Amino acid sequence: MTDVTATATDRAHRAAKRYVYAFGGGRAEGDASMRDTLGGKGAGLAEMTNASLPVPPGFTITTEACNDYFAAGERLPDGLWEDVLEAIGHVEQQTGKGFGDASSPLLVSVRSGAKFSMPGMMDTVLNLGLNEETLNGLVALTGNERFGWDAYRRFIQMFGRIVMGVSGEKFDEALDHVKEQRGAKQDTDLDAAALRQVVEAFLEIVRSEAGRDFPSDPREQLDLAIKAVFASWFGKRAHDYREYNKIAHDLGTAVNVVTMVFGNMGDDSGTGVAFTRDPNTGEKVLYGEYLTNAQGEDVVAGIRTPLHIRDMLERMPDIYNQFVEIAGRLERHYRDMQDLEFTIERGRLYMLQTRSGKRTAAAAVRIAADMVDEGIITEREALARIEPAHVDQLLRDQFDPASRVQAQKITAGLNASPGAAVGKAVFNADRAFEMAQQGEKVILVRIETSPDDFHGMAAAQGVLTARGGATSHAAVVARQIGKPCVAGCASLVIDYGTRSARVNGLGFSEGEWISLDGTTGEVFVGALPTTQARFEDQAELQKLLEWADRARRLQVWTNADKPEEAAMARRYGAQGIGLCRTEHMFREGERLDIVRDAILVAFQATRAKERREAGDSLSAEDEAAVGRFDEALAKLEKLQEGDFYGIFEAMDGLPVVVRLIDPPLHEFLPNHAEVLVEVTRMEATGVAADDPHYVEQREVLRAVEALREQNPMLGLRGIRLGLMIPDLIKMQTRAILNAAIARRRDGGDPHAEIMIPLVGHVNELSRTREILEAEARQVQDAAGMEVDYKFGTMIEVPRGALTADAIAEHAEFFSFGTNDLTQMAFGYSRDDAEGGFLLTYVERGILPENPFQSLDVEGVGQLVRMAVEKGRAARPGIEIGVCGEHGGDPASIAFFNEVGLDYVSCSPFRVPVARLAAAQAALQGAAERDK
Ligand code: ADP
Ligand code: MG
Ligand code: MG
Repeated sequence: MTDVTATATDRAHRAAKRYVYAFGGGRAEGDASMRDTLGGKGAGLAEMTNASLPVPPGFTITTEACNDYFAAGERLPDGLWEDVLEAIGHVEQQTGKGFGDASSPLLVSVRSGAKFSMPGMMDTVLNLGLNEETLNGLVALTGNERFGWDAYRRFIQMFGRIVMGVSGEKFDEALDHVKEQRGAKQDTDLDAAALRQVVEAFLEIVRSEAGRDFPSDPREQLDLAIKAVFASWFGKRAHDYREYNKIAHDLGTAVNVVTMVFGNMGDDSGTGVAFTRDPNTGEKVLYGEYLTNAQGEDVVAGIRTPLHIRDMLERMPDIYNQFVEIAGRLERHYRDMQDLEFTIERGRLYMLQTRSGKRTAAAAVRIAADMVDEGIITEREALARIEPAHVDQLLRDQFDPASRVQAQKITAGLNASPGAAVGKAVFNADRAFEMAQQGEKVILVRIETSPDDFHGMAAAQGVLTARGGATSHAAVVARQIGKPCVAGCASLVIDYGTRSARVNGLGFSEGEWISLDGTTGEVFVGALPTTQARFEDQAELQKLLEWADRARRLQVWTNADKPEEAAMARRYGAQGIGLCRTEHMFREGERLDIVRDAILVAFQATRAKERREAGDSLSAEDEAAVGRFDEALAKLEKLQEGDFYGIFEAMDGLPVVVRLIDPPLHEFLPNHAEVLVEVTRMEATGVAADDPHYVEQREVLRAVEALREQNPMLGLRGIRLGLMIPDLIKMQTRAILNAAIARRRDGGDPHAEIMIPLVGHVNELSRTREILEAEARQVQDAAGMEVDYKFGTMIEVPRGALTADAIAEHAEFFSFGTNDLTQMAFGYSRDDAEGGFLLTYVERGILPENPFQSLDVEGVGQLVRMAVEKGRAARPGIEIGVCGEHGGDPASIAFFNEVGLDYVSCSPFRVPVARLAAAQAALQGAAERDK
């Protein structure tokens, strides 16, 4: 009887929980919808079986069994073992073989498989069920002695390493030793007698290393292997991977027990992996590699150099055509690019795995766009498939073409994961991790990588390996975490001992700069300059973002201080400027001198003017200060007007939010200690009291001292400064409005919005508004022209958010300054926190995330939500946006969408990312409302 469902009822009687799901013979108890329970691999095996694809029979032990195993103190939960034995019985029926049967042995693989595919993170044991007796049966059955001994030695090696904890190197050494003795170059050169010798050596290694004999009872082997898979869920490398990818630790892994099929039974056998489309470019071609007469992970490990999947067409045309047909079916079935694992046993094809393939950013975008064109998925589905990180990656730097030509290229390997990476060479993952922690840019250089190198790869700018193909560990992981990777640089001789790498006399040692081009596979010595990726050339990306524009509700504006930045952001799709920081214009070249001049006398001049208005006459010194101040301001006004003109021109027809001066004045003055040292030095060397340099330095010192604050972050900055020195407000108002008037005269369409920073009390705003409006009136009267402008404020002080209703009476728009709002809500000074304790906080889980990167929805989010509600209640239709860095963070964008902001504003290169994130937020929000 081969109906797998018949036994289901028996099992249901025995235990309340269902721990085992069988598949085989065209029917499976599970299906693709059961990823939570069966893991990705198990669900895929079930689904492929149901689709009548050739899958060897087997069964899946659920993720729940894994969790119950740990809950029970690392004991198999009640009923599980009985279910397993029953399922084995089932497989025996299907295959006509017996588990432990010496005449016709059933061998299985034991494979882990969590809900999310974690390449290389957990270990698979092949050929389980072998011992001296079943080996004889296998040899008799296949008539292939060499094959039998090879299978056995692989089994002892894997089981010994993975299940019994014997170091893999011991086995490698023993194998190399026999190869050397026999003059064999490759594993395949060893004959049966040699392999038998290897087996004996391996058994001895197990005995001495594990302190026990290798288990010969297949049931004990299975029991131990299942527990080992469970245990690997909490192994360090799996744990690290989950941490990095933010995967929950309580999902557990399933265990798949699958009848072995043998790719190493001769030249009509083989094993391979293939993607249904090119995972680097997204091109619609079968992409993969295979090896004849090989088993299991030979392809992935890079021990022998595999053949291109294309070569199968010539060597095994029937199999190739069958495979192409299956690949197409699976892709259409799952409606996504698939990553397939297969084995050919004596001319018969078996499918061992299907899953959505990992891909580069470029491939993700191209595949999504193509699949819409092919009618496989909808535009909305395409948008959901692109990650904001993908868009980000596509806009990342590339090597400057000119310097690439002159650079010293030392070698090239496989272009395994695209992008440009520059860093110091490091030959060890731990060291790479440490150096990166200290802020160094590093490139991890390894002969080949293993899962133990993951933390080093994640911390590095890029990865370079000497061995391994396009599906090697290094390549797969690098693509997935978006790091450039050059793999299989066979000419590179890496010496871990001297921490150096050589090619034809050239090379580099640890700490030296190297540059990798993962797009071409080239490796350079030195640090190559990089250039921006060209958005204009990426047609598929643009197409997707246009779909995103149709799906989103939030507008995307940009933070730009210069016309060039504004123009770039506009090309990226920005719909306005949400933040133009006027003081950034103060810092350049000769301007700084003018600004300093103004600051030196600002307070004196302001007070003098006040006295003059009150009717007092001024001293000659005060008169001079006023004159000097006004002159400096007049120069600044001219310069600013020119800047604003340029920005209005670049953003013609779109809103431009200009923020009045924000930072504390001392930021424009020289460092206190330096001036003090200079003055003291001059005095010590007996400088003349009227020495002009000395007089000047004394004046600077006095100004610096007068402006020194204990806590500049909480001191005289933002509108507080403007209210102390109203001429600053007036000057900037004139510059903005005159620039707008000039644009209008030149036929432009400027939309100025003047923004007041750091308002905590409504009176700060109302007072500023009086000053500003009076000045604006004068400018317009003088010009004989009216210009529309908006007057609004930032909400970035908690008190401002709490009293947003009162503030909205005087503001036509709000813009959340979430950087300051986060600082003040948490009571952190950002610079001190990020340079100090904050990262430790995140590491130790005291904070879930850095709140300056992703908005703290729980706390700071409440202030935002409250201010939106109060603002809208007081002034319906008030324009509300965000201009903090959170405006470019996808998770924060989802929140801003939810609370109903009108726009997010972010740095120019984040604009495309924000367009996608805003669309995803809108689609997600709509999906939740439909539930
Ligand atoms: P991973 O999760 O690392 O991909 P798998 O469980 O897929 O691990 O196993 C790795 C490889 O082992 C597979 O790609 C396949 O080549 C081989 N393998 C696993 N199970 C079997 C089997 N039953 N018969 C033959 N080869 C197998
Ligand atoms: Mg594995
Ligand atoms: Mg696999």
